Amino acid sequence: MSETPALYLDNLSRRYGEIEVLAGAQLTLWPGEAVALVAPSGAGKSTLLHLAGLLETPDAGEVYIAGQPTRALADNARTALRRHHIGFVYQFHHLLPEFSAQENIALPQMIAGLGRAEASARARELLAYLGLEARARHRPAELSGGEQQRVAIARALANAPRLLLADEPTGNLDPKTADHVFATLSALVKASRVAALIATHNMDLAARMDRRVTIREGQVVEFD
Ligand code: ADP
Ligand code: MG
Repeated sequence: MSETPALYLDNLSRRYGEIEVLAGAQLTLWPGEAVALVAPSGAGKSTLLHLAGLLETPDAGEVYIAGQPTRALADNARTALRRHHIGFVYQFHHLLPEFSAQENIALPQMIAGLGRAEASARARELLAYLGLEARARHRPAELSGGEQQRVAIARALANAPRLLLADEPTGNLDPKTADHVFATLSALVKASRVAALIATHNMDLAARMDRRVTIREGQVVEFD
């Protein structure tokens, strides 16, 4: 395989005081695959996602984004890498309340340097793909929970990142809505060839992803 992994976690260790959360964790994510991260509360899912997303630095080990080692990067280079190559989705949508759905998706593109017209056009394209074109001008408070989360997914993918990191993205939704949001997420992963690491407690959703991993004694372990 000559393709470069979207994400390669090499021997990551992270402890908080006495608590050793990760101890030599390894993980490779290939473009276009969706991997479920399933582990009990407190196992280190968010820690792993924060390290992968360059929001925290490991005590030891290296995080490679699209083949690039990140440990030695200066802050502005890390920020640029995060902005262009990594998208985040959280349990709560974190959309900006005073902006419309379309504006929420356009903003990260404009921050990354795109003009307003281009950014708005891509935002509308993503909304149409999600079946939300009629919601483009609505503010987050005027959207349902599922719609808010689908807009948050579109925002995370707006800059065509290599890597999508989602921390219990359907954890706040009822099962039917979670199913719909997950279907959207899966379709976008396949269409965009982004690599997705998705922390979830939902075993039905995990079963529909390409692979499943958990965290055991500080290591990332694959399971079926
Ligand atoms: P999960 O997302 O799987 O629920 P976390 O990654 O949030 O787990 O947490 C893993 C462990 O690390 C927990 O025991 C948690 O209390 C601890 N932890 C996480 N972040 C911090 C922090 N900033 N300071 C101290 N302990 C932390
Ligand atoms: Mg967590």
